[in-house]
Amino acid sequence: MRLPRLACFLAVCSGLIFATTPPARKASQPDIFLITIDTLRADHVHCYGYDKVETPALDALAAAGIRFNQAFTPSPITNTSHTSILTGLLPSMHGVTDFAIPLSPDHETWAALLKKKGYHTAAFIGAVILDSKTLAPGLDQGFDYYDNFPEHAQTKERWGRVERRGMDVVSDAERWLTSHPAGPHFVWVHLYDPHDPYEPPAPFADKYKEHLYDGEIAYADSALANFVSYLTRRGWYENAIVMVVGDHGEGLGEHHEDTHGIFLYDSTTHVPLIVKLPAKASAGTVVDAQVRTIDLLPTALDLLKIPLPSTLNGESLKTYLAKTGEQGRTAYGETDYPLRFGWAPLRSVRENGLKFIQAPKPELYDLRADPKELTNKYDAQNPNVTKMESLLAALGEKSSAKTEASASSQNSDKLKALGYTGTTATATDSASLPDPKDKIEQQNLLHTAMIASDDNRISDARSALEKVLQLEPKQPTALRQLGELELNSGDFAKAADHLKSAREVRPDDSTAAFYEGQAREKSGDLAGARDALEASLKLTPGQLPARLLLGKVYLGLKDPKAAEDQFEAAQLLDSKSMDAQLGSAEAQIAENNFADVLPTLQTMSQSDPNNPRVFELLALAYKGLGKTAEAQQAETRAAALKANH
Ligand SMILES: [Zn+2]
Repeated sequence: MRLPRLACFLAVCSGLIFATTPPARKASQPDIFLITIDTLRADHVHCYGYDKVETPALDALAAAGIRFNQAFTPSPITNTSHTSILTGLLPSMHGVTDFAIPLSPDHETWAALLKKKGYHTAAFIGAVILDSKTLAPGLDQGFDYYDNFPEHAQTKERWGRVERRGMDVVSDAERWLTSHPAGPHFVWVHLYDPHDPYEPPAPFADKYKEHLYDGEIAYADSALANFVSYLTRRGWYENAIVMVVGDHGEGLGEHHEDTHGIFLYDSTTHVPLIVKLPAKASAGTVVDAQVRTIDLLPTALDLLKIPLPSTLNGESLKTYLAKTGEQGRTAYGETDYPLRFGWAPLRSVRENGLKFIQAPKPELYDLRADPKELTNKYDAQNPNVTKMESLLAALGEKSSAKTEASASSQNSDKLKALGYTGTTATATDSASLPDPKDKIEQQNLLHTAMIASDDNRISDARSALEKVLQLEPKQPTALRQLGELELNSGDFAKAADHLKSAREVRPDDSTAAFYEGQAREKSGDLAGARDALEASLKLTPGQLPARLLLGKVYLGLKDPKAAEDQFEAAQLLDSKSMDAQLGSAEAQIAENNFADVLPTLQTMSQSDPNNPRVFELLALAYKGLGKTAEAQQAETRAAALKANH
């Protein structure tokens, strides 16, 4: 059983060094295991020269394979960088430049390409950020199985709701492999652990208590060790191609960036990359040339003798695997994440020991003399600057042509449904936006607040957001988050004030308007609630909760006709919505349409005989028609149901 596989794999492997070897037979292609470790700085891995952490699994893979010393991600945020790994494309080409932007089916993923060649494909993710049902639509393209999070989490804890421990992720992968033993497999395993907040489990929490980020890395490494040992036990390790890569790094306070996403410095773009080949070919090789994470997909295809799609931005690393490639590759960096906060997006080019960062205040670093990128040598006349600017301009032209061709209204509808419309600016008007370098303290605080809110530490979240507003009183993201926080903690007047201010800065933020509508309704300002909800629905018409609330507000304002319109619109959005049906009945009663509404309520009293509100409204309808006995009966029923409740 193992023999044909081994034979084939030797063919693949030697084919990679001696190009004359005939291509391997499809039936016995090697398994491919792609392991992405989130938020992993290259310089925090033991085999990359860091002695404050133990990463025996990564070290062993590097010893058995090829370690790339200088590998770079084009994006410092999770879903964008993973999409680049899985498509071999730069962010501006695949278009997934923010959370929840769907990956177009035009861009085939690694899984889709291998599935066509008979691979069995599965993905195991460690964070909801990569969930294809919510924040990463389309990323499941080509996977037979994609291990999304449950739609309704049973827990309020972080674990299981938004994040999974590495050991749980690999257990899921191992279970799937055990029940799907027929190969060849392409399995992607995502270990999220080093992402903040840094909370490694025992014994790592104790061992690394002074540097918990490293503790998370050591823990993720232990999960990797578990996976490798599973593959070894099954006899699948030796012949497999195993690729391990970081999706991006972590600021750790360098350039004042605590986490990642805003900047394009090496702290967040330099990642570890290790490739183990079948039969441990080229074991122990260290490649110093600069390569990119977008090169992984073309490398895998090349090793399997599958023709590369001509559209890829990445290129095969085969020449480096055979130790013949010495020239480094130009690495581009792109981040649109600053746009979320109203700041300018950044672009970068890294080549020949230089890094150019295109920003309102441009930067140039001589990486050989200044690897920490501390001394900005930018000079508009410098020919290197001119050259790298023109490289970025050429790339920008290509990507904007592509964006225009692939933009679809379906995608923007999906986005609207997820509430993302209006919170992002477009790159075209970015010239006038502030440089993120001048705003990074705010982003650190906003991030702290987000994590604190997630963990239900409300006063920590509030104080971080208030600090942002001390730095910039009209910061729209902070105003909106603070408004939402006060709304949830019951200070409706304060919430309404913050949300109103947020909308003054960003009038197209339909979510802020909806929150403001809720806050005003709760504080009894019905006219204010009406205005905010109307504004929200004008921007995003398909919001059921906003329709229902606006209907209720119109009832309170004694405008039953307008209320009925809203409840009818709500029923168009969801014909089964009980709230919409009841609201509509209530509006008709307020309009004295007793005879019209009675049959509807009678039907509802049969289909939903335990809902006291149905019988309350039924009593009102009977009363309006002068049927006192029936009204009395319905009232008694409503009271009994309420008492049982
Ligand atoms: Zn990430």
